[in-house]
Amino acid sequence: MKPFSYHCATDAGDALSHLSGSSAAAFLAGGTNLVDLMKEDVMSPAEVVDISRLPLGGITVTDEGGLRLGALETNAATARHPEVVSRYPLLAKAILAGASPQLRNRATNGGNLLQRTRCPYFYDVQLPCNKRLPGSGCPAREGYNRNHAILGTSEHCIATHPSDMCVALSALDAVVVLEGAGSSRSIPITGFHRLPEDEPHRDTDIRADELITAIELPSKGFPENYQYLKIRDRSSYAFALVSVAAAIEIEDGMIADARIALGGVAHKPWRKEEAEALLVGGPPSALAFDKAATALLGGAEARTFNAFKIPLARAAITRALADACHLMTK
Ligand SMILES: Cc1cc2nc3c(=O)[nH]c(=O)nc-3n(C[C@H](O)[C@H](O)[C@H](O)COP(=O)(O)OP(=O)(O)OC[C@H]3O[C@@H](n4cnc5c(N)ncnc54)[C@H](O)[C@@H]3O)c2cc1C
Ligand code: SF4
Repeated sequence: MKPFSYHCATDAGDALSHLSGSSAAAFLAGGTNLVDLMKEDVMSPAEVVDISRLPLGGITVTDEGGLRLGALETNAATARHPEVVSRYPLLAKAILAGASPQLRNRATNGGNLLQRTRCPYFYDVQLPCNKRLPGSGCPAREGYNRNHAILGTSEHCIATHPSDMCVALSALDAVVVLEGAGSSRSIPITGFHRLPEDEPHRDTDIRADELITAIELPSKGFPENYQYLKIRDRSSYAFALVSVAAAIEIEDGMIADARIALGGVAHKPWRKEEAEALLVGGPPSALAFDKAATALLGGAEARTFNAFKIPLARAAITRALADACHLMTK
């Protein structure tokens, strides 16, 4: 680990003043990802700005009837909050599918959004990697790419986004609330994370001098018909090979609204409105789920070691939709 200076921020303005104009500073929240990256020299901020004591925790109902999740609320407290459990059980289930109880007790909601990819080449500073060192190359394309993306890749990067929580937040149409020096803004989470294109070093559209203060959920939480299905190598403490967040609204036996987001398959949680539209207006059925899966996976591209992800994702999508609609599957 390279030497760095440490500052414990007293308020948001103080935290932001340490970041503005300096790409060499990084916020420290729970530290479960940043500290690992610093130990491996993947990230070497000259200054660590500790935001963990700022009053950015808590979970409150918004004026619009939605829910505001504080950026510094822990993943564990968020998953067990009564409003989340009763109104957004999809989110609770996705959070609990991630990491371990010890990590969730420490990890924050803001930090979860900004966790970096688990591509092994990104973590090995002896090797090139366009995400870590722009322009150096992407050894994963021709290397060991079992965990890598099948959708939305570019010639510069085929990494996946590792979060479970963000997949559910994407299906729920959450909004990320940001504060910068003298201004604040909100970004729908579906537009917050980026595809790699020719700038794989940029995971999200957050600016270098912005702080995540909250994540807001709209009032609709799909508490009746939902599923978060995570397929991984171990049944616990492993990142998703493929995950599916399915949120369905059924009225009079017909699908009135449908959201499907995929994890483990792209550089961001993967949604396609046309796949969701195929489900709306008809009854839940295996045929409809299969058509939605085909649309969602359109353009999927396998590399040497990850071809299994395409049929796996198809099976996971149809299974998650059937579970969400309480249909029996074989
Ligand atoms: C062994 C292990 C297994 C894991 N398994 C899973 C898993 O299965 N599924 C899953 O989803 N996750 C998993 N995780 C990841 C874990 O969820 C994240 O490390 C955690 O959510 C990050 O939150 P943090 O508060 O610790 O962030 P930090 O490590 O403190 O920060 C992460 C990044 O976010 C930035 N940041 C943090 N807060 C803010 C803010 N408010 N505003 C702006 N920038 C901010 C930091 O500067 C840093 O760049 C695992 C982690 C480990 C170590
Ligand atoms: S997939 Fe992305 S993160 Fe992995 S080596 Fe290639 S550029 Fe780096």
